[in-house]
Amino acid sequence: MTGSVTFVGAGPGAPDLITLRGWRALQEAEVVLYDALIDPALVDDLDAELIFAGKRCGTHFMSQEEINFLLVENARAGRRVVRLKGGDPGVLGRVGEEAAHVAEAGLPFQIVPGVSSAVAGPALAGIPLTLRGVSDGFVLVTAHRRQDELEFSIPPFHTRRTLLLLMGVKTTPEWQRQLLDQAYPPNLPLAFVESASLPTQRVVISSVEDAARDVLELEVRAPALVVIGEVVAQRVAGVAIEPEAESPSLTA
Ligand code: SAH
Repeated sequence: MTGSVTFVGAGPGAPDLITLRGWRALQEAEVVLYDALIDPALVDDLDAELIFAGKRCGTHFMSQEEINFLLVENARAGRRVVRLKGGDPGVLGRVGEEAAHVAEAGLPFQIVPGVSSAVAGPALAGIPLTLRGVSDGFVLVTAHRRQDELEFSIPPFHTRRTLLLLMGVKTTPEWQRQLLDQAYPPNLPLAFVESASLPTQRVVISSVEDAARDVLELEVRAPALVVIGEVVAQRVAGVAIEPEAESPSLTA
């Protein structure tokens, strides 16, 4: 029998935010390679070999080469492999590299989209990414920088566009400087959405000029994303989950 690799987006964190198609692929899997930030509830009861391929900022449990190798070797052995990734596999998720590797080996693969934290985070915080008259679109960029890579780059300020930063907790002083260099107003509101969809979800409202201070003083922790723009001021408080840990003095 020919094996295959199915790339599945697990959603932002809460196990019930995976898609039905992704869930079914998991039930049928014989091998599951999963990342950090995946809720154990998604994989614990599966009748499959579980391989933790976790990568968290700074600590790499498995190299990209090892992951590619395991995907191909298991599929070549005739097994149904699921590669489970946080959020959507195509959003800063390296699915391009991994799928190319599988395709080059002549093995079939498919991609099951997931709910990206990039859209789930703002939604769960009650912040619209677009809003008539306020924001007509959004731009998503990584704020992650590895020693061996070029610096990430913040796009120029646009009054009607929301900016989303992923992987940016540690690099807050760097992107804050870039925002100011790119003419973002110092008082433009921004929100850190921490652990979106998880019981520990927290929303911290700040501004371009206060971001570096607030991330330290309020101990913002990964995983968190940053929403930057006027939409943050339009946060619909009634829709937002209001975690107890939220600091009332800093919220809209
Ligand atoms: N493919 C993933 C993103 C991978 S990059 C997706 O589509 O969501 C990892 C980054 O995603 C984290 O550093 C953080 O910025 C963001 N992220 C992932 N899960 C998150 C969550 N539950 N809450 C807030 N941000 C999250």
